[in-house]
Formats: sequence, structure tokens, C-alpha cells
Amino acid sequence: MEEQTIRVQRCETKKEKPQDDQLVFGKIFTDHMFVMDYSEPLGWHNASIVPYQPLQIEPSAMVFHYAQSVFEGLKAYRTDNGSIELFRPEKNMERLNRSNDRLCIPPIDEEFALKAIKQLVSIDRDWVPHTEGTSLYIRPFIISTETYIGVSAAAHYKFIVILSPVGAYYKEGLNPVKIAVENDYVRTVKGGTGEAKTGGNYAASLKAQEMVAKTGYTQVLWLDGVEKKYIEEVGSMNVFFKINGEVVTPKLNGSILSGITRLSVIELLNHWDVPVIERRISIEELYEAYQNGQLEEAFGSGTAAVISPIGELKWGDKQMIINDGKTGEISKKVYDTITGIQYGHIEDSFNWMQNIETESTVKH
Ligand SMILES: *Cc1c(COP(=O)(O)O)cnc(C)c1O
Repeated sequence: MEEQTIRVQRCETKKEKPQDDQLVFGKIFTDHMFVMDYSEPLGWHNASIVPYQPLQIEPSAMVFHYAQSVFEGLKAYRTDNGSIELFRPEKNMERLNRSNDRLCIPPIDEEFALKAIKQLVSIDRDWVPHTEGTSLYIRPFIISTETYIGVSAAAHYKFIVILSPVGAYYKEGLNPVKIAVENDYVRTVKGGTGEAKTGGNYAASLKAQEMVAKTGYTQVLWLDGVEKKYIEEVGSMNVFFKINGEVVTPKLNGSILSGITRLSVIELLNHWDVPVIERRISIEELYEAYQNGQLEEAFGSGTAAVISPIGELKWGDKQMIINDGKTGEISKKVYDTITGIQYGHIEDSFNWMQNIETESTVKH
């Protein structure tokens, strides 16, 4: 593909930036956004960085009717030496194209998209907050914009990137959550869109989330959609259990989202020689391990929280209190290491971080 240039139109007046301690998740957006169009036979074109603004899209745009859309989520961190860095962003671009493939959206040029993201973050760099734990959340997404209400893959799309400064997920250290096993609703099924990052999976998950919140639990533990037996994910995070000295995480099976935090946790545990295995694990097996005193830790993993320790797990009328409801040793060590690398406190010996000022050096 011929290298495109990115047209830049800067905003005339900059918005007022919030104080770091006032930041919440995903409510305010920076001064600029990236937009690129797709149409036949041009392919992806019109790459531009423009002031953050409403879109003009016809009500007949296909995305509103048949939900052909994908997204990504990653963060820019301000490190100890003042540089701004992204965590394994090439993995997000690869995953975006896997999601595209599942949703019949034309692939993007991964290196070009990453270059565009870096340039956008660089232009809005003053929006990357300074306080430990804060970051600039990056939301790339693609929607079908063709004006047609027949069911088919669209011929027109928009690839957009918006940025949102976000506060620290944990203000007073890691905080274990209470989780309830979901026995009625499922998030997705094998053969469905579970391994794609697409809005429809989230729409399907809201009902269970709303119900569980009423009973005082934070999130649900999703079981597989076929037998409702095997553990898949927790909320919108991947999930890990430490059982009798070994860390277990559900093996990717077509319905589990392949998290980049999940991959990093597995790579770290391998590096530390902590036994870690990807396999099928049923809720019965987990409960048995609990009864035998072998369920030592449980935690979720994802970009937003990095690690979310699970202190309590409810399964029907059975209750499991894990590690006395406190954050486990492995959970804490993984959390400290990943965030340490992200904020530049510890050496990035895995080469996970990419500076926003430099071109991607990742080979494909
Ligand atoms: C994004 C996401 C995750 C976590 O992925 P990360 O790359 O680690 O942020 C896990 N599960 C679901 C359903 C997701 O959408």
C-alpha cells in the first residue's frame, strides 16, 4: 500500500483541561481526533487529524442498524523521565484487524494506523495527565457508514481515534472485588463474535451486569455459552486463578477475547518460572479447589485496571472467600511489574513500551 500523508487541521481554541484529581473514566475528550474514510475503489483514504467534533452521518448509515463496528482500547502513559509511551500498541493494531476480519470490515494498514495514533497523541500531548496512575485513554474504532438498510457488509467505513484523559483506577491501592457467577445470561458463544472487540458483545452483557449490580456484586463471571460450565471471562476482563501453586487461565477458544494484559501476565509468569497453564476450567473444578483449600488467588486482567483481584466469588448459594478477601501475592507482583514498566519505574526488559515520538520498529 502506498504510504499516505496525514492532513492536520489544528483547533483554534484549546479546551480547558481538568485537574488530575478530578479525572474520571471516559467523560471528556481532547482537542483533536483522527479520521480516515474507506470506500471502493479508493480503499482507506483521507487520513486527517482534525479538531474533536460531532460527526455528520446519515440515519441510514448501516452501523446504526446492523452494528458492524469494532474498537480498541489502549493507553498513553507519562513516564518518570517525562516521555510519553504506549504499551504494546502493535498488539492492539493486530487485534483490530482480527476483529475487522470477523465483522467483514476491510483491514487497515497496522503500521500506518499506529503512526497516526502516535501523531495524534503527540499533538494532544499536554492532555496526558501527570499524576501516578493516570493516563490518556486511546479509543480507535471503525464504523460502517454506507447509507443502506439492506443486510450486507458495508462498502463505506470511517476509522476514528479519540483520546480521553483518565484518572487512576486505584486511588488507594489494589482493591479486591466481589464477583457473582452468571448462570442465566451468556456474553457470547463459540462461533459468535466473542473474540472480536465489537460493541455488540458489550450490548449483550449489560443485562447481566445491571442485575448483578443490584445484589451488591461488582461484575459477573461469564461461563461458556454452550454448556454454561466452563469459565470464560470476568466482566470485560480475562481471568486467572492460582490453584495449588499453579496459575490457570481459560484457554482461548473462539469466544474469549484475547487480552493484551492477559498475554503479558502469562509472559511475566513464564519469565518468573511461576507455573502457568492455559486450559479449560469448569466452575465445579474451581469450587472443588476452593473446598480443598487450594484456591489461593483469583484476579481479572485488562487495560483499564491492569489487575483486578477477586476477593469473593458467589456461585448460586455457594460462596468462596479467596485469600481472606485480600489481594494475593502474585496479583500484586504482576500489577506492580506491569504498571512499573508502563510508568518507567522499572526497566522495560521485554521491549513492551513504544515512545510516541518514534516510528514503530515492530516487524510483521
Ligand atoms: C478488551 C477486553 C479484554 C481485555 O483486553 P486487554 O487487551 O487486556 O485490555 C478482555 N475481555 C473483553 C471482553 C474485552 O473486550
